[in-house]
Amino acid sequence: MQMTERSIRVMVSSQMSEARNVVIVTGIPGVGKTTVINSAVEKVKTDHGEDVLVLNFGTEMFEVASKAGLVKDRDEMRKMPTAKQRENQKKAGEAIARKAEKARVIVDTHTLIQTNNGYLIGLPEWVVRAISPKTVVLVEADSEKIAGRRSNDPSRARDAQTAQDIQVHQEMCRAAAVAVGTLTGATVRIIKNREGKVEEAASELAQTLME
Ligand code: ATP
Ligand code: AMP
Ligand code: MG
Repeated sequence: MQMTERSIRVMVSSQMSEARNVVIVTGIPGVGKTTVINSAVEKVKTDHGEDVLVLNFGTEMFEVASKAGLVKDRDEMRKMPTAKQRENQKKAGEAIARKAEKARVIVDTHTLIQTNNGYLIGLPEWVVRAISPKTVVLVEADSEKIAGRRSNDPSRARDAQTAQDIQVHQEMCRAAAVAVGTLTGATVRIIKNREGKVEEAASELAQTLME
């Protein structure tokens, strides 16, 4: 097995004591991950004077895919051939594991990506082992509200889905989050992002960061 600098560091430090620093934040498109993360990072700064490094998996992948001329915006990536998505995912996962050196790190990503050929696993074994998260947070919300959030956000080209399909996707994400916990020993925390209550969800995420 190829050992990265980070995996060696995690191994050595975990022999002394548990020293995991990464929280992976997941949830279906439009549920509010990025919004809740931004608010939690501000809260940690205000309440504890600490910085949190946020690494966005989609941004890492987009840098590679756009430089290669494969896509023009980040929402096109899940429509690429799945072999290409996996290739970019591997590069992004390695880059994120290398960058995740700070005391408190959030990885903003997905456990299941809806492609033209079924769900792509966002955090397969080779990605998640390198990151070694302490917690996988799954952000959830009412399916109807998520449909509304997607259609009211002009900054993105999110897929239109029925509330019923959104519900199924959310249930599948629970199973996928548990799989990450099984592979890595991370805890799995569900955080509800209720309509108009970003601050409540952000407080829970801040608690997880400071644990
Ligand atoms: P993606 O996976 O596509 O990046 P995301 O989960 O990061 O999506 P956001 O971009 O954070 O989602 O939020 C989607 C939209 O929902 C935004 O317009 C945001 O302002 C809105 N939103 C987020 N949380 C709430 C909330 N609690 N109540 C109402 N609107 C919200
Ligand atoms: P986001 O801004 O979080 O929606 O990310 C943009 C896009 O990046 C997603 O729609 C996916 O195509 C891709 N992406 C994000 N995280 C992953 C991942 N872990 N594995 C594969 N693709 C991902
Ligand atoms: Mg986002």
